[in-house]
Amino acid sequence: MHPDLPPLLDLQELDHKIGRLRSEFVQLPVAKRRVEEAFEEAKRKLQEAKQAQQSTELLRRQKEGEIEELRRRLARYQAQQMQARKNEEYQALSHEILQVKGEVEREEDEVLLLLEKADDLQIGVKQEERKAEEAEGDARQKRRELAEKESRLTSQLAQAELDRERKKGTVEPTLLARYQKLVQGHRENAIVPVVHGGCGGCHMKLTRQTLLRAEAAAELASCENCGRILFVAQ
Ligand SMILES: [Zn+2]
Repeated sequence: MHPDLPPLLDLQELDHKIGRLRSEFVQLPVAKRRVEEAFEEAKRKLQEAKQAQQSTELLRRQKEGEIEELRRRLARYQAQQMQARKNEEYQALSHEILQVKGEVEREEDEVLLLLEKADDLQIGVKQEERKAEEAEGDARQKRRELAEKESRLTSQLAQAELDRERKKGTVEPTLLARYQKLVQGHRENAIVPVVHGGCGGCHMKLTRQTLLRAEAAAELASCENCGRILFVAQ
C-alpha cells in the first residue's frame, strides 16, 4: 500500500463512524414522537371507554326518570278510575292503565339491559386503565433510555469529530483535498480496495495498468471509471 494511504483510511473510517452516529442521532426525534404517540393513544382509549360508560349511565338514569313519570301517571289513572261513575269512563281508564303498565315493563327491561352493559363497560374501563398505566410506565422508561442515548451519541460524536480533526492533520494535503472532493461526490467510500481486479466502489473492471500501479504502491492509483482512490489490501 502506498505510504500516504493508511492515515487516509483511518480518516475514512472516522467519517463512516461520524455518519453512523449522525444518522442514529437524527432518528431520535422520531423515536421520541413514537413514544409519546403510544402513550397518547392509550390515554385516548381510556377516555373513550369512560365516555361510553358515562353515556350508558346517563341513558339508564333517563329511563329511570321516565319510569317514575309513567308510575305517577299510572297512580293518577288508578285514582281517577276509583272515582269513575260511568262504565265507559272506567273501561277507558282500564285500557290506559294496561298500556302504561306495558310501557313500564318495557322500560324496566331496557334498564336491566343497560345495567348489564354498564357492567361490561366497567370491565373495559378497568382494562384500559391498566393499559394506560402500563403505557405511562413504558413511556417513562423509554424517555429515559432515549435521553441516555442522546447524551451518549452527543459525546461519541464530539469525540469522533475531535479524532477526525487530529487525523486530518496527518493526511498528505493534496491527497486530503482529493479525498474530500470524492466524498462530496460519492458521500462515502472515496478510498476503496481492489476486489477481484475491479474497483471496490463502482465494481468496474480495472485496466491492467491501473492494477499494476495499485499493486506496486509507488504512486497513487485511482479507478478510471469513478475516480475513487484504490489500494490493494494486504
Ligand atoms: Zn470505480
